[in-house]
Amino acid sequence: MKYCKDVPLHSSWDVIVCGAGPSGIAAAVTASRLGMKVMLLERYGVVGGCLTLGNVTTVMGAVAPGSIRDELAALLSSPDTETGIDSEAAKGLLVNLLAKEKVEFRLQTPVVDAWMEEGAIRGVYVLTQNGIMGMEARRVVDATGDGYVAAMAGCDVMVGRDGDGLVQPSSLMYTIEGMDENSTLVCRHEEDYTTFPDGREYLAMCEKAAAEGRLPANVTIVRLYRTGRKGERLVNATQMNGVNLLTDGDAEKSEIDLRNQMEMVNRFLREEVPGCSNIRVRVSASTLGVRESRRIRGRYVLEAEDLLCGRRFEDAVVHRANFSIDIHNPTGGGQSETDGLPHQAQPYDIPMRCLQPLKVENLVLSGRCISGSHRAHASYRVMNIAMAIGQASGTMAAVSILKNCRISELQYADVRASLEKQGCNLT
Ligand SMILES: Cc1cc2nc3c(=O)[nH]c(=O)nc-3n(C[C@H](O)[C@H](O)[C@H](O)COP(=O)(O)OP(=O)(O)OC[C@H]3O[C@@H](n4cnc5c(N)ncnc54)[C@H](O)[C@@H]3O)c2cc1C
Repeated sequence: MKYCKDVPLHSSWDVIVCGAGPSGIAAAVTASRLGMKVMLLERYGVVGGCLTLGNVTTVMGAVAPGSIRDELAALLSSPDTETGIDSEAAKGLLVNLLAKEKVEFRLQTPVVDAWMEEGAIRGVYVLTQNGIMGMEARRVVDATGDGYVAAMAGCDVMVGRDGDGLVQPSSLMYTIEGMDENSTLVCRHEEDYTTFPDGREYLAMCEKAAAEGRLPANVTIVRLYRTGRKGERLVNATQMNGVNLLTDGDAEKSEIDLRNQMEMVNRFLREEVPGCSNIRVRVSASTLGVRESRRIRGRYVLEAEDLLCGRRFEDAVVHRANFSIDIHNPTGGGQSETDGLPHQAQPYDIPMRCLQPLKVENLVLSGRCISGSHRAHASYRVMNIAMAIGQASGTMAAVSILKNCRISELQYADVRASLEKQGCNLT
């Protein structure tokens, strides 16, 4: 196999964005709008990341109005979905957006390594049908969710919670159809207690079924989100504890276990929950839903305390981010660190320093892998916030080229001026 130094050079770009999830798409579109020649690389054959391939159709979290999030939300919202998006429609809408915005992209092109030169990333190596190629760029954005590029480049990696290093469980999200709307329920979160006419309470039914082995022991709640289509629900229930994508074999172990969990959950719904006797799976995630893997250490590590007090930063690139500290229990069912409900954050800022990795130049962090603690990550990982982070990372890459400075030398005033010109509210 041809590898590394003797690989053919596959042209050169201003900005290469690795990973076409919500954050990578926002980063690529933003950099292109700022005049950059952009290449977006995606390992799978479909863009959208968790939003499409993960069947995560409930786009959550908030940021200050005016960011690219508003535009993407408007693009993806469809009249027949009262909440969330249609993951099938999103696949087409997002590739058309990339084409319209003149973002070059390659599908089925995994990044396999970082191309390093004197402590800076010079590009990436990708796997193509013609072998491994080197793709050169002036700046690289890591929007792989897993911080893969940053890890390959030698950045400091943080994994899991303090103490035991455990990460949030992975899940397979899926959509069911065939519910009888006249007799069934919507259960979004633990807070939605629902009592059936016969007096049975849904969450207590879930807990009892888990305790008695009719649901997996760690599936103590079967969250059902309305999709807007009659008789349909997005099911957020299956979960695999004690695994980590970064450990060889864990993805496969999870896939087997979670597909079996889906069968168990469906049996529980059909046999025990009113209105569900005729349900069937309409669509399931095409790939394991990984909530948490690597977090890359940057110039600042965002902490849960920053979120809980709604901290403002003088170098904010995302303003008024807001979502609860939503930690799915790493060791069992439901959420951890709750007093009944996930801890509520106050609208908070994400500083530019969280997107600037230590040690490696020319690299910008984006989306789920930015620099934050396990607990802070549980909030900013949601998709509306990931998109806003993407706009910031694309802007930082472009501004550093336009100002001819390193990522570590970026002047916040320049980044802020560009974000504000794009419509972002940072005050
Ligand atoms: C089970 C589950 C439920 C969730 N529920 C919600 C919810 O209800 N609401 C909400 O808003 N958020 C939810 N989230 C969180 C949210 O979906 C993710 O945190 C968010 O999508 C992160 O965006 P991202 O762009 O950083 O990463 P991702 O969406 O993970 O996208 C990363 C992209 O990079 C690609 N990639 C990875 N490695 C490589 C490589 N080496 N080369 C090329 N491409 C690569 C991937 O294929 C993917 O397309 C959930 C997540 C999970 C897993």
